[in-house]
Amino acid sequence: MSDLVNIPRGDPTVYAPGTWELVFHEDEGDTPSYYSAVIWCPECGRPLSLQRGHHIDTEGRITPSVGHPEQYLQEQPCDWHVSPRLLGWPNLTPPPPREFSTCARCGEHSRSLSGWGTDGRYAGIICTACKKTLALEAPRETPEDPK
Ligand SMILES: [Zn+2]
Ligand SMILES: [Zn+2]
Repeated sequence: MSDLVNIPRGDPTVYAPGTWELVFHEDEGDTPSYYSAVIWCPECGRPLSLQRGHHIDTEGRITPSVGHPEQYLQEQPCDWHVSPRLLGWPNLTPPPPREFSTCARCGEHSRSLSGWGTDGRYAGIICTACKKTLALEAPRETPEDPK
């Protein structure tokens, strides 16, 4: 069993052991953006990032409990493993997800448009895979405005 432990919010410029800091994760693919936290272990001082499986309720209580990743334990064992409550948890609402975009060529849906672009043959934006395919096809004719 792990204990419920109150953790104060830290000063972002100090990173004091035994405090927590707010972290914002951008939405990625189909995963919406969310707020999370990093806790600096009061015993070994290393940062403990919460995983996606961790839930922080409106009172700042984290479930399931927080321990150390396997890699840390191999480097330097640490027994600190608790059910933390983040004091001063702001309980912010993440911004709405970015709009889905649809590839004008294959219909692929995505929120992440890295690598997407335009092509004179299609009237909208096209996905990374289609851009590659099109680049391998015959050189394009004189570009004209999509009508
Ligand atoms: Zn530790
Ligand atoms: Zn496509």
